[in-house]
Amino acid sequence: IRASAAPRRPPGSAAGAGMSVLVTGAAGFVGTHCSLALRKRGDGVVGIDNFNAYYDPSLKKARKALLSSHGVFVVEGDINDGRLLAKLFDVVPFTHVLHLAAQAGVRYAMENPASYVHSNIAGLVTLLEACKDADPQPAIVWASSSSVYGLNDKVPFSERDRTDQPASLYAATKKAGEEITHTYNHIYGLSITGLRFFTVYGPWGRPDMAYFSFTRNILQGKPITVYRGKDHVDLARDFTYIDDIVKGCLGSLDTAGKSTGTGGKKRGPAPYRIFNLGNTSPVTVPNLVSILEKHLRVKAKKNVVEMPGNGDVPFTHANISLAREQLGYKPTTNLDVGLKKFVKWYLSYYGYTRGSKNFRQ
Ligand code: NAD
Repeated sequence: IRASAAPRRPPGSAAGAGMSVLVTGAAGFVGTHCSLALRKRGDGVVGIDNFNAYYDPSLKKARKALLSSHGVFVVEGDINDGRLLAKLFDVVPFTHVLHLAAQAGVRYAMENPASYVHSNIAGLVTLLEACKDADPQPAIVWASSSSVYGLNDKVPFSERDRTDQPASLYAATKKAGEEITHTYNHIYGLSITGLRFFTVYGPWGRPDMAYFSFTRNILQGKPITVYRGKDHVDLARDFTYIDDIVKGCLGSLDTAGKSTGTGGKKRGPAPYRIFNLGNTSPVTVPNLVSILEKHLRVKAKKNVVEMPGNGDVPFTHANISLAREQLGYKPTTNLDVGLKKFVKWYLSYYGYTRGSKNFRQ
């Protein structure tokens, strides 16, 4: 790792910048966008990612190449590798960790529950141990999830609402992550900020998510499966555009305060915070499909079926007052505008040209 990749105070830093940030899951969807934004304002960034095959690793490699062309070095490694983490903290005095590495997705937990425990529980603890032992101890901002609200049907969800009814193993590991990070906060004085993201979408997104797989199938002339809740109620999500999430992550890093421990010893109280990062305007899945059809200019072949009870919740809706007040978080992109940008990226990345043979209309 070149020292220049993560300087303490990079020359020409923007106001509020000058951080040295370890981004875990840097080759992931959110990690790529956050790393680029941090670099753009002059912060030092080093990434770590294990490039696992949960979804197309070539997309992760392409994101890595993009990051590399912007001066972000991504180490190929696992957050369960404590020796690797200790080495990284030895070489670079990280002021902050943006922890985004995780096994995401709710349905995959039925096939591979162990991967959730590996990354979201064991990996989180290994990372926190490395942060606790580092000198200086970095402030930690990490991705929890709106899924912690589970089967709670009181909307919009606010941070004080109950989170004791997880609907999937994924949600349970995120909820456990909140308890684990809270423990490291009060025992070791680590500054912790947990962010409950609400369905993030946009360019360079995740192929396992509905908006992405619907786009793929629509363009290939294949049917899409649209889940419907009980009593024919449409599912709805508080879709949040990636640029808004990035602003929330950077705002969290900027206001994270300091860890107060050193070498594993606590000196005083450090902040422990949880924020919802959503859009506050849920959209039903059939509406999502209509917007995609409009931007793709192709009709979808829809298979509407009842939700099979495999981890999905019927709806999500964020109350973002706390993030607005304390982080200055203010989402500005609606689903129509955001999906237009996603479709433009998708067509270009996968080489679709309107009017050509590969574009069925
Ligand atoms: P992503 O899968 O694109 O990114 C996660 C990255 O972490 C991947 O590149 C993966 O290879 C890496 N990774 C996984 N396990 C690892 C390990 N053990 N060691 C090193 N790297 C590992 O997902 P994303 O959409 O960018 O999500 C980022 C974070 O936000 C995740 O924690 C996710 O749970 C959370 N989140 C995302 C959403 C969303 O809608 N995208 C919603 C709520 C929460």
